Amino acid sequence: MLRFYNTLTQQLEEFRPARDNTVRMYTCGPTVYDFAHIGNFRTFTFVDLLRRWLRASGFLLDHVMNITDVDDKIIRNAAAKHQSLKDYTAVYTQAFLDDCAVLRLESPERLVPATAHIDDMVSAIERLTAGGHTYPSEGSVYFRIATFPEYGKLSHNDFSGNLAGARVDVDEYEKADARDFALWKAPKEGETSWDTSIGPGRPGWHIECSVMAIKYLGATLDIHVGGVDLIFPHHENEIAQSESLTGQPFSRFWLHSEFLMVEGQKMSKSLGNYYTLRDVLQRGYAPETIRYLLASVPHRKTLNFTFDGLKSAATAIDRLRNFKLRLETDALPDGANEKLLERLQVARTAFVEAMDDDLNTAEALAAIFEYVRDANSAMDAGEFRAGNVGSALHLLDRFDEVFKVLEPSSAAGEIPAEEVEKLIEERNAAKKARNFGRADQIREELLAKGIILEDTKAGVRWKRK
Ligand code: AMP
Ligand code: ZN
Repeated sequence: MLRFYNTLTQQLEEFRPARDNTVRMYTCGPTVYDFAHIGNFRTFTFVDLLRRWLRASGFLLDHVMNITDVDDKIIRNAAAKHQSLKDYTAVYTQAFLDDCAVLRLESPERLVPATAHIDDMVSAIERLTAGGHTYPSEGSVYFRIATFPEYGKLSHNDFSGNLAGARVDVDEYEKADARDFALWKAPKEGETSWDTSIGPGRPGWHIECSVMAIKYLGATLDIHVGGVDLIFPHHENEIAQSESLTGQPFSRFWLHSEFLMVEGQKMSKSLGNYYTLRDVLQRGYAPETIRYLLASVPHRKTLNFTFDGLKSAATAIDRLRNFKLRLETDALPDGANEKLLERLQVARTAFVEAMDDDLNTAEALAAIFEYVRDANSAMDAGEFRAGNVGSALHLLDRFDEVFKVLEPSSAAGEIPAEEVEKLIEERNAAKKARNFGRADQIREELLAKGIILEDTKAGVRWKRK
């Protein structure tokens, strides 16, 4: 039984999509004003695991993610570089997509830029105005929170008293109530803006998500995902707008992932304590190592980023790869060890149950590693048999369908696997012909390219250094 912790109800709830086996899901995407940092990618890696596990659970996906390609920072940075918004954001949108591909994050079914939906946003704001939910102020349009009595139901903030300490939109405009937020922002002197039926300006951030989610997925989503910093005010505001527009609940499930931390603080641009994906790759870490680290801690727990953590992640992946290599190349006695087949069944069940339990990746990984430890010992003792290989590989496949770390990324300039295989064949032939000089030469040649050969009873196996 698949269960998720729902921020809205503050409970673990059984999940299945409302209609036709398809999960309608929305993720708040990146603001493309700079390279994303690995804190951002913690959230997007969680979303990727979620996608993959939903599919492994037999559901289809219709997943929308927005690209926020207009906001105050973008306007300011583009102007400073004398670039159009389009040219400026195109660079960072592409960088984000490239980084996602490097981290093996699947593309959502629909990736939608905010600036392609200005008309839809204007029309939504007009409907909100017709419903009495807005007021104008100095050319901007505000949402009047007082018209939405359920405000606060997601963040479980009590707004009946005063708002001291609440993080509210900081704007220089006149607002009736500190909680009210801009749906439409009047342009300041010289700023990029759109001429529309509600006047010149640009959309607020919150209306983007409501409009694009409803346009593609309908009034009620199955799942809405984002980092915990978006619960308030962003998601609270999305709910207020969306439910005022449709009269329906906006999302059945709200899933929020916790922060990637650095020395006790949230990794963030503003604190300057961040690494982009590119920074970490430049230090020689493989993308799948970063992916593993980000995936290894369940999403509702904070994860402290350290380079030691990355090193442990690399070691963990190596253990799994080495085990897989043994399964593929060790000469094993015939037959099947029944006890080990049962052991595998226990691991498989534990893995599935952990993932079903709100994507408890730490428990799921523990199930895999405990099995690998037992299987390795059995191999050393000669108790692991040929008939145990198939189910063991199958378990690794199930694991890797979601975690996606077993295949090594080939770095630029790296010798491709087919070429390694060809040289190994040539070396085998040389050895057969008792041309040991050539055989040694090939071994050296491969070593220089980072390939380690191991002669075993069952033949030659190889791995990258
Ligand atoms: P932004 O581009 O700032 O809108 O952020 C994109 C996503 O990254 C949002 O879902 C944020 O909640 C998330 N995010 C930002 N910082 C962190 C962090 N340190 N750890 C995890 N997620 C984060
Ligand atoms: Zn959003």
